[in-house]
Amino acid sequence: MVSGDHSTIVKPRNDEREYKRVLLSNGLQVLLVSDPETDKGAAAMDVHVGSFNDPEGVQGLAHFLEHMLFYASEKYPEEGSYKKFLSEHGGYANAFTGDENTNYHFDVNATHFEEALDRFAQLFICPLFSAEAISREMHAVDSENSKNLSSDAWRRCQLQKNFSSKDHPYHKFQTGNKTTLHTRPISRGMDIREGLQSFFEENYSAGLMSLAVYGKEPVTKLEELVREKFSLIKNKCVEALRFPGSPCSSEHLKIIVKSVPLRDQNILEVTWPITPNFSNYKKGASPYVQHILESDAEGSLIALLKELGWANSISAQENGTMDYAFLEIYLELTNAEHVQEVLDFLFQYVKLLQQEGVVEWIYEEKRAMNETWFNFKDKADPIDYVVELSDSMQIYPVEDWLATDALFAEFDRNTISALANQLKPQHVRIFCSSKKHKLETTDVEPWYGTPYTVEYIDDICIQRWEDAPIDTRLHLPSPNIFKPTDFNIKNFEGEEKHPVMIRKTSLSKLWYKHGTNFKTPKAYVYLSFHCPESNKSVEAEILTYIFTWLFADEMTEYAYYTSMAGLYYSVSDSKDGLEVVVEGYHDKLMSLTEKIVEKMLNFRMKEDRFAFVKEKVVRNYANMRFMQPHAQANYEINHILTQESWHLSECLEVLPLIDAQKFSAYFPRLLSGTFVEALIGGNVTSSEATSLMQYIEKTLSPLVNNRAPNFSQSLQRRIMCLEAGTEWFYPTAGFSPDDENSAISIFFQVERDSPRSNMLLKLFTLIAQEQYFNQLRTVEQLGYIVNLYEKHFENVRGVQITIQSTVKDPTQLDQRIEAFFTMFEEELQMMTVEEFKNNAEVLMDMKLEKCKNIWEESDFYWREISRGSLQFDRKKNEVNALKELKKEDLIAFFNQKIKRNGSERRKLGVQIFGNQHHRELIKAKDERKLPLSFTNDSENGHSNPGPTETKQNEPHPQTNGSKDTDSYHLLSNGIAETIPRDDFYEHLYTPGNGYKQQGVTEAKFDSRQQNAIFVCDEQAAQLDHTKKTCANRIDDIQAFKRSQSFYCSPKIVP
Ligand SMILES: [Zn+2]
Repeated sequence: MVSGDHSTIVKPRNDEREYKRVLLSNGLQVLLVSDPETDKGAAAMDVHVGSFNDPEGVQGLAHFLEHMLFYASEKYPEEGSYKKFLSEHGGYANAFTGDENTNYHFDVNATHFEEALDRFAQLFICPLFSAEAISREMHAVDSENSKNLSSDAWRRCQLQKNFSSKDHPYHKFQTGNKTTLHTRPISRGMDIREGLQSFFEENYSAGLMSLAVYGKEPVTKLEELVREKFSLIKNKCVEALRFPGSPCSSEHLKIIVKSVPLRDQNILEVTWPITPNFSNYKKGASPYVQHILESDAEGSLIALLKELGWANSISAQENGTMDYAFLEIYLELTNAEHVQEVLDFLFQYVKLLQQEGVVEWIYEEKRAMNETWFNFKDKADPIDYVVELSDSMQIYPVEDWLATDALFAEFDRNTISALANQLKPQHVRIFCSSKKHKLETTDVEPWYGTPYTVEYIDDICIQRWEDAPIDTRLHLPSPNIFKPTDFNIKNFEGEEKHPVMIRKTSLSKLWYKHGTNFKTPKAYVYLSFHCPESNKSVEAEILTYIFTWLFADEMTEYAYYTSMAGLYYSVSDSKDGLEVVVEGYHDKLMSLTEKIVEKMLNFRMKEDRFAFVKEKVVRNYANMRFMQPHAQANYEINHILTQESWHLSECLEVLPLIDAQKFSAYFPRLLSGTFVEALIGGNVTSSEATSLMQYIEKTLSPLVNNRAPNFSQSLQRRIMCLEAGTEWFYPTAGFSPDDENSAISIFFQVERDSPRSNMLLKLFTLIAQEQYFNQLRTVEQLGYIVNLYEKHFENVRGVQITIQSTVKDPTQLDQRIEAFFTMFEEELQMMTVEEFKNNAEVLMDMKLEKCKNIWEESDFYWREISRGSLQFDRKKNEVNALKELKKEDLIAFFNQKIKRNGSERRKLGVQIFGNQHHRELIKAKDERKLPLSFTNDSENGHSNPGPTETKQNEPHPQTNGSKDTDSYHLLSNGIAETIPRDDFYEHLYTPGNGYKQQGVTEAKFDSRQQNAIFVCDEQAAQLDHTKKTCANRIDDIQAFKRSQSFYCSPKIVP
């Protein structure tokens, strides 16, 4: 317990931080958190104003204001200076707008917390809204909305809102777009700037705000800072707007709305209006009811639906405000063929809950687990923590600002029953989203354009749901055998800072790290099963992936009980084969791991489950085609750079050929050459770790015939090594033909892992990031997704740059990025030694940041082990390298690696053309017409180059722009530039046309462009050497890969 002003805040048992509640004279509620251990300071301001407050006809204004508030304040008028300051000091800022609240938050290196706090406070005291900034940021909001248009989650959410009373704010469109924030207001003569200002004046009152502040400083110092900086926020004495009453009237109940999603998925959402839990949160009725509904245990709704092969997952949630709420069950169905039966079982299960569901021991089990969770809560990132706190400060009384509704304790049968009884068939709202509804839709949701149809559920159906007997397969869960009871922290001897290898055999290697740093009863096991067969072919990769799903299916029941008991596990396919992670309270962790390994290694496929899982896997692959263009660009970059990787299109081709027999034949092969590498740590002893490893080996040895895997079988991960001074680009259409967004992703490959080069790269990204964002997103408004970050491919590092845009095509985006670097170069030159030092210090602080919890630490070590780099002293080594760096080093780095024409620049760009840039794609793919070599050779009289020694399928270089006229000239000189379709093949194979002699090895007709494409021979590649700095186009990724050299990973097994 912690004292505040007149109130006592309930605090977790293992939490040594100091908390204090302060109420400023302007009515601002403040929670101070002092953590002497922290490297970061953070603060979050939650304003009790959200999109529900949007004025009539200006939907999205609250959200727009959230965007605008970041720009500038009277005290700090330079636009973007708030974010700039933060990023220059290792920090970050963000915000989000909800229905009834808007949350602003930031973090920064602890050394610069005071100034950051001052800049933050000024946003709420006197923000500036310049007209110019407003018109720019409007594009960002509009672009954010167009990104959301392709999200099924956003579409479904708005569809639910569509079925509610028009006079309830729940009905509104939250995000806003150009029409609601610009076109319509202007047509009504409204000045949007004035609108923003008056919205701020009317609603942003200190009395409606809650502030959570997290710092290294003692509480008294934090209080002093907050009083000094935040007391000036005006209290406008406004009350928070309340929106009483339900958003649904009788016409919005008993409905079933069928809609069509973008992705191929079948989602069933069943919701009921309920009394908000908030009014009775100490009684825990809502968490209890959700707990039963989403239970995965044997006898539960989802267990039965999975058994029948009708559904994959379930979740139950309460959504809403203090005034209204919905209890929502979300089901992911395998297909939409059994919706009626699924609903029948669902109502039977709800009836079970109503009739016999209020069971005191289940309540007690759930209560106890919540209490354990709260008392041993891991430290989170300060920025996440303050967001959570400032949000709960708006809802809960002071004593429960930390605990929120987690610590319920007053078992009350009546309250739980009352809630369960609200889930009546007469009040249900059913939303079913499936491609199956394609031909049935009659309407279109106005904001997102989702096609749907609505039906009213008839009384016969309602009656049937009310009267149906409960299927005997449905029953309540059994007591949890994994519930931890031992929370003792073990005593460890020795002072090992890092993991130590304590065991090595021909089958396994064990790293061990005991957990004295974090006084928590938690532990972890990471197991990497190196299976040389796992990625050998597309088929192998898919079968390995299918295994992980089959296994998850097999383990369903365990998953429920273990996660309820605070134990988490995953079995996933990795680059090496299979990865098993088990973490949580140490008590039952080792026995759970044994069970998982035993079941995994002795896995027996069930044919009916195979069919069910395969359907799911097929859908997962198929749905990847709906990834957003920026994600697709990143996907293609990964695919191009990784040697053994299979493209989605290849997977989709092979998938139909995969069957249960193939799996049965493959699985023993998968395990046959297995070698296990493990990291075990936390609150476990080394002998416990060793005996787990012995158990794993004993289980594994019959499968590998007691033989160590052959060295030559061991995996090597290879990443492409782009040649210095080259530039490649790959233009392609977006996966989703309806998406109007285009995107570009550029990867500048830098170097392999080494302290000095890592630090130069980090410094560069640190400095460039904010300027890049400011120029390309804020000033040029190219799109909402605008990123520049450091990216690792295994141990090869570089910078990745991404933009998703509707306003410019990828070729233009590429030009904007190059233009930015030209500008950046000047800035870099002008940087003072002082500024450079400051940046280096920021990076130093970031590097020296301590791990906040056991998971951050174990994650760091596991990455070093699984990548094979084993740099446990990475921080120290990199900091030492950083100390040596000078401004000139950074400039040299930029000039060589990033700057256009840099001697060591290696640029790979993937360009995704959205549907509105279709013509530009044709142009990007066709710019070559015929390769330059063709032209030059023929002009020099070498029209018959004869056979060459270059490999087949060499990629064909491409010159950008200027020389194209030559190719055109040649095309028209002898070969028609555009040949009509009918004449094409005839023309091609007519003797005397001389195609073969002139180096054309392949020709095809492009129906979209209505002309011929000529694929030229290897001559072209040779010309590359004289054209190093030109951008080369990649036409065929596999051929490109064959022509490049690769870095080997340092990973050598065993
Ligand atoms: Zn936004």
